[in-house]
Amino acid sequence: MPSFVITEKCDGCMGQDKTACMYICPHDLMALNQETRKGFNQEPEQCWECYNCVKICPQQAIEVRCYADFAPLGGSVIPMVGTDSIMWTIQFRNGNIKRFKFPTRTVEAGSVDIYADGAEVDIANIKKPGLYSHQARGETLPVPALPA
Ligand code: SF4
Ligand code: SF4
Repeated sequence: MPSFVITEKCDGCMGQDKTACMYICPHDLMALNQETRKGFNQEPEQCWECYNCVKICPQQAIEVRCYADFAPLGGSVIPMVGTDSIMWTIQFRNGNIKRFKFPTRTVEAGSVDIYADGAEVDIANIKKPGLYSHQARGETLPVPALPA
């Protein structure tokens, strides 16, 4: 089932022209009603149910109704994204609630310095496979062994 906005919770991202859900949707489906200042999914039949808009909404105003095989009618699956983890709240249709928390980072956000090892970018390698840091260190990417 596609994403939908709970209008009572949506605050239109506090009047921003481009809301968080508009920014994140990989299919450009989310839009802002200029009169009501509420977000909405303008083309639900195109929704991939990827949950990006659900995760990013600062008001937790977007939900995706899961497929009935793992979340029967009356159940819900709500993510809450933190700086280093994500918490999923699963509500069963009998009212039971379970929460699952998973780490999403191993280092502090913004702390990775990709130039720390002094690797120089050689633009001549732009079309070669591998990452520039591999190339700068003279390394090659591992090649998976194919089954015989
Ligand atoms: S991200 Fe959430 S609060 Fe912001 S416009 Fe979309 S639904 Fe509303
Ligand atoms: S669930 Fe994914 S594809 Fe659907 S509206 Fe949200 S961000 Fe877009």
